Amino acid sequence: LPRDLFRPERTNSAGWDLHSPAELERLEAMRAPFAAPHRWHGGPLLADEAGGATGEEQRLKNPAAPDEEVGRTRLASPDQTRAALAAAAPWRADGAERAAILTHAADLFEQSTGEILALLTREAGKTLADGIAELREAVDFLRYYAARIEDLEAPARGVFTCISPWNFPLAIFTGQIAAALAAGNAVLAKPAEATPLIAHLAVGLLHRAGVPRAALQFLPGPGGEVGAALTGSPAVGGVCFTGSTATARTIHRAMAGTMAPEAPLIAETGGLNAMIVDSTALPQQAVRDIVISAFQSAGQRCSALRMLYVQKDVEEGFLKMLTGAMAELRLGDPWEPATDVGPVIDAAARQDIDAHVAQAQAPGQVLWQGRIPEDGHFVAPTLIRLPGIAALEREVFGPILHVASFEAADLDRVVEEINATGYGLTFGIHSRIDDRVQTVAKRIAAGNVYVNRNQIGAIVGSQPFGGEGLSGTGPKAGGPHYLPRFTRAEGRVAPA
Ligand code: GLU
Repeated sequence: LPRDLFRPERTNSAGWDLHSPAELERLEAMRAPFAAPHRWHGGPLLADEAGGATGEEQRLKNPAAPDEEVGRTRLASPDQTRAALAAAAPWRADGAERAAILTHAADLFEQSTGEILALLTREAGKTLADGIAELREAVDFLRYYAARIEDLEAPARGVFTCISPWNFPLAIFTGQIAAALAAGNAVLAKPAEATPLIAHLAVGLLHRAGVPRAALQFLPGPGGEVGAALTGSPAVGGVCFTGSTATARTIHRAMAGTMAPEAPLIAETGGLNAMIVDSTALPQQAVRDIVISAFQSAGQRCSALRMLYVQKDVEEGFLKMLTGAMAELRLGDPWEPATDVGPVIDAAARQDIDAHVAQAQAPGQVLWQGRIPEDGHFVAPTLIRLPGIAALEREVFGPILHVASFEAADLDRVVEEINATGYGLTFGIHSRIDDRVQTVAKRIAAGNVYVNRNQIGAIVGSQPFGGEGLSGTGPKAGGPHYLPRFTRAEGRVAPA
């Protein structure tokens, strides 16, 4: 076991009990000052504020209420991006000081709970429960990487570019930065285009905690401009990226053309995640875990369940129970604590997912579909029958679940079919036959395998997260092998 697994000095963030009316009331009071019409203002945060001409202004809208402006940000101009590359300076403080500052930042994040939750809801469409989980994960990353600094054996690589996705605009954004900084690098952070305001808040808190500005600069802007400049510069010693497999390939090519050959790309990309439910599974538990895996966060997780295989003998009753549970999902304003499923991120995402569902109009193929609110970028939770995962040509990033049935004798073929997608992020199995679980878990090529539970929401420090194949390069985030990759140790890990 890695030796910090039970280190007493680090515990995961406690979070909130949403079943307690008193706690809910406290949360509401903390969020209230940041409800609409409150607006945020963001922009680049640079080491040298005299970085030349400023960039364009971008307006951010609430995905659940597209007329509501959440705030505005300035984008980084080409001049500012060049200036940031020139000014980036690795964090020279010793390990103990870096650890103390990152841990202090975790405390500041927790102290900003109300504002962070409000921004996660209004800028990214996150439900309250999702927002709390995300804030906890960000805090856990800060404390976890801080606690692991003492194990590092090699020096920093220099300057790291961190490019993060809108679906975890706080947790993944912060996790990448925290790791690169823990190792002593300078960071150039480019947030997702849809969520620059929450990222701006996070960087402000890291600076307030004591991270020097030359060690952490913030450059909001489009991938094709700011992202391209930050991944195609010989001044950069490594890139950390979470997003699509296609973008990871673009970044890899840009790096190959400009950076030193040993500069690492640490990428976590897409998934085509499956779950197998056999006839021995506990149906109530399996249904609950399927609904969480497929529809929480409106299915906007790389880890989300896309393809469910149910054993034929139990299929009919099981699907009845599943669609019954889907009918109970409350879609709507994510600010409401009772909402289960919020909007997808924007109109383009909605159109893309709707187009996928529209293709599935052969008779009997759409088994169930929910109803959506009139305003906002909502997509109805939908269950679609497919012959198997091979028919799913791409990752559809929304609340759409596909289902196929299998005969017990065909289990090996199902496993092969799942592996043949080339993706390997998460996988779930519900079965009470231990031998079967062990055999399948061993054969399945996925980074995170979950047994008799849901398959999302990996916990920092105990469930390191990351995939193989088309799903990412590894090492896994929130695990003991992650930090050394941000140093010159090339994946060497301190002995356990
Ligand atoms: N770490 C998240 C989870 O376990 C998924 C991250 C992602 O969607 O990129 O659900």
